[in-house]
Amino acid sequence: MIDGLLERLGVPAAAYRDGTHPVHTPIDGSQIGAVTLQSKADVQARIGAAQEAFLAWRNVPAPRRGELVRLFAEVLREHKAALGELVSVEAGKITQEGLGEVQEMIDICDFAVGLSRQLYGLTIASERPGHHMRETWHPLGVVGVISAFNFPVAVWAWNTALALVCGNAVVWKPSEKTPLTALASQALLDEALKRFGDAPEGLAQLLLGDREAGEAMVDDPRVALVSATGSTRMGREVGPRVAARFGRSLLELGGNNAMILAPSADLDLAVRGILFAAVGTAGQRCTTLRRLIVHRSIKDEVVARVKAAYAKVRIGDPRENNLVGPLIDQQSFQGMQDALARARDEGGQVHGGERQLQGQYPNAYYVSPALVEMPGQTGVVRHETFAPILYVMAYDEFEQALAMNNDVPQGLSSCIFTTDLREAERFQSAAGSDCGIANVNIGTSGAEIGGAFGGEKETGGGRESGSDAWRAYMRRQTNTVNYSRELPLAQGIVFD
Ligand code: NAD
Repeated sequence: MIDGLLERLGVPAAAYRDGTHPVHTPIDGSQIGAVTLQSKADVQARIGAAQEAFLAWRNVPAPRRGELVRLFAEVLREHKAALGELVSVEAGKITQEGLGEVQEMIDICDFAVGLSRQLYGLTIASERPGHHMRETWHPLGVVGVISAFNFPVAVWAWNTALALVCGNAVVWKPSEKTPLTALASQALLDEALKRFGDAPEGLAQLLLGDREAGEAMVDDPRVALVSATGSTRMGREVGPRVAARFGRSLLELGGNNAMILAPSADLDLAVRGILFAAVGTAGQRCTTLRRLIVHRSIKDEVVARVKAAYAKVRIGDPRENNLVGPLIDQQSFQGMQDALARARDEGGQVHGGERQLQGQYPNAYYVSPALVEMPGQTGVVRHETFAPILYVMAYDEFEQALAMNNDVPQGLSSCIFTTDLREAERFQSAAGSDCGIANVNIGTSGAEIGGAFGGEKETGGGRESGSDAWRAYMRRQTNTVNYSRELPLAQGIVFD
């Protein structure tokens, strides 16, 4: 299934064939590789090399650092089709989404190249005569990236493109479920480093490992920033450990994203928005639509239309003309079935959610997306199940819908479909959605790289990607310079 693909991406056969950790494709469950996982000592050695590289890289002018990222975008453009295909094979994304993920890598590189000339600080009015004040941003150190299986390459690129232009070194621990896309992405970055010519050795490194390798990185004081993407369970372990050594963390954790569907909404638009957000990536996006809060007057019509749309969804091999590929593994399938059983116990009426194509793929897990009519936001609804389950609940008053949108532990993405300006503005106001992302007449998923990405509450509070997210990758310094012949003190203090 991957014959020739990894070679085209610059990964030598030994790197993905000769190890002891098996790699499976979710497409049919077959083994497609075997990689070597690094020990704790390897992790520490790599962090040491990255720290050395950082000491040199921080002195390279930022626009020159941007040149490395420009070259990386160039290499990515040359290999977009192959890397996209590998994402499909290893993570099970349909071709369009595999290619989209690589495009996201290219987009963030382009953004970061521009940013390399715009790492602006401030000048600040000083209260003292003959003084000036300013704020400068300096490189931070080694950035440790921990990533999840469902965005196996884009999340690393978001972090790496920004970290490199900001003058940092990067050490990346991808999900143990997706090491091949990581090897390929690293090989492409290595090619860009070769074209660049004189970047310090060890500037951007990959370490393959499981949770233990992640923990070694989390506990190492030489890692200035741990940027970790994954479940809230993982963040609950990583956050306090990094804080205990006064390191910085940037946490991008689970979501439980809702749509409020108001009676004035354009339902054609809304049904299309629901379909992409709820079943895209087989429900395995952090921004997947998981809760539909619909006005009681249109609930039956909406349920009927979404059910009809679900019935037409093509499920199967993600490289063929299908809309829904497989779940990542058996554990994920079991998690979905457990959640549906619990939903029934809590009064839910389940439509769909059955295993599909079992005869053709006995070792892979394809499912039809589930629509579950719930009496309210019971326990199961408040929990993120990483599979295509959409809970539907009715509301009567707008304020009640807003309260339901916010009444879950997670705070990543949210949206409203309405043509009522008051509702739209209220939803995005200070007293509206409490999520990091709040959209109007657009679904919860599919963000562009230009905005800051991340969420509140149990989603972890981190922001990555666009806007001023780069600041998390730098340290701020306040400078005061006295160019007078006096030494006046602030606050008018006399100390003679
Ligand atoms: P996961 O938490 O199982 O694993 C994520 C990564 O963390 C892996 O690399 C894993 O090895 C590592 N890890 C796990 N425990 C660790 C520990 N104690 N110390 C250090 N590293 C540890 O998540 P997953 O199943 O790969 O991904 C799905 C989850 O990720 C979902 O909850 C989804 O919402 C979330 N996610 C969030 C975002 C976001 O931007 N908010 C993006 C993608 C995925």
